Amino acid sequence: MQHKNIVILGTGGTIAGKAASASDNIGYTAAQVGVTQLVAAIPALAAAGHLLVEQVAQIDSKDMTFAVWAHLAERVHYFLARDDVQGVVITHGTDTLEETAYFLQTVLDPAKPVVLTCAMRPATSLVPDGPQNVMDALAVAGHAGARGVTAVCAGVVHSALDVQKVHSYQLDAFSSGDAGPVAYVEEGALRVLRDWPLGQQKRGLHAIELVALLVEAAAGGTWPRVEIVMNYAGASGAVVDALCHAGVQGLVVAATGNGTLHHDLEAALLRAQSQSVSIVRATRCVNGRVLSKPGEALADSRGLSPVKARIALMLRLMLSGSQA
Ligand code: ASP
Repeated sequence: MQHKNIVILGTGGTIAGKAASASDNIGYTAAQVGVTQLVAAIPALAAAGHLLVEQVAQIDSKDMTFAVWAHLAERVHYFLARDDVQGVVITHGTDTLEETAYFLQTVLDPAKPVVLTCAMRPATSLVPDGPQNVMDALAVAGHAGARGVTAVCAGVVHSALDVQKVHSYQLDAFSSGDAGPVAYVEEGALRVLRDWPLGQQKRGLHAIELVALLVEAAAGGTWPRVEIVMNYAGASGAVVDALCHAGVQGLVVAATGNGTLHHDLEAALLRAQSQSVSIVRATRCVNGRVLSKPGEALADSRGLSPVKARIALMLRLMLSGSQA
């Protein structure tokens, strides 16, 4: 039987990090080891063949940019369109992994698997977690029936729609919250628990057209400006007013509880909305979602976390601008 290729795209992160000492798991520099070298260091992978490897970026994911996102979306789209490609694995930092996953899922809604993976310990660690995570990600990418964008860490497969980094240090750093994981990877085999991610939004553009728009917007610096503000004890409208003054096009508010807002912050958001700034209300709670009551003046994020609601709003504003 002819085996299809699995593509591994490198973007940096701790998985490619280096520390001066093998016992140091926090004092390292991310994004130092090339993805080809990472793959070569895993003997089982090097022997398996059928891998295409490409370095798309080499960054600490805390420094993610729109330009890297646009380039990554373009490369993933390119490889997925090839008949000889079964799926794509992306090595990525953990800090903004959930944002990249949601971004790719929303833009591409791929019928083939796109699997982000990562590490909490650098490549130089005495016991690094990256190699096993890459092996597990390849198992997902090669699994018949897998589709959409997922994240794999510590043997757990999360949907791009639900995944969140929930721990700053432990190896099992991600959670799917209420939704639960899509699958577990056990010795290279998948125990699938629920459906693979499917795109939620209908839109007029094909993925290829949207990717071209993103590349153009990143190059031209025209990506819509959407910021996140938060509700907390003593919150005021000052930050919202300042952002409106600076020309922000959209705001996501990480509200308390079920979308509640300090009345001063709420008044500023309503003012901003009346000046055509798009406002979306998400919750800063890790689990649950904002359940809107009839007649609410501020739209809710439809279950998206604040960072994912921001991406959804940026894409919506970009599309409405392109169709205006
Ligand atoms: N700062 C790193 C990054 O996001 C953290 C990690 O990968 O775990 O690239």
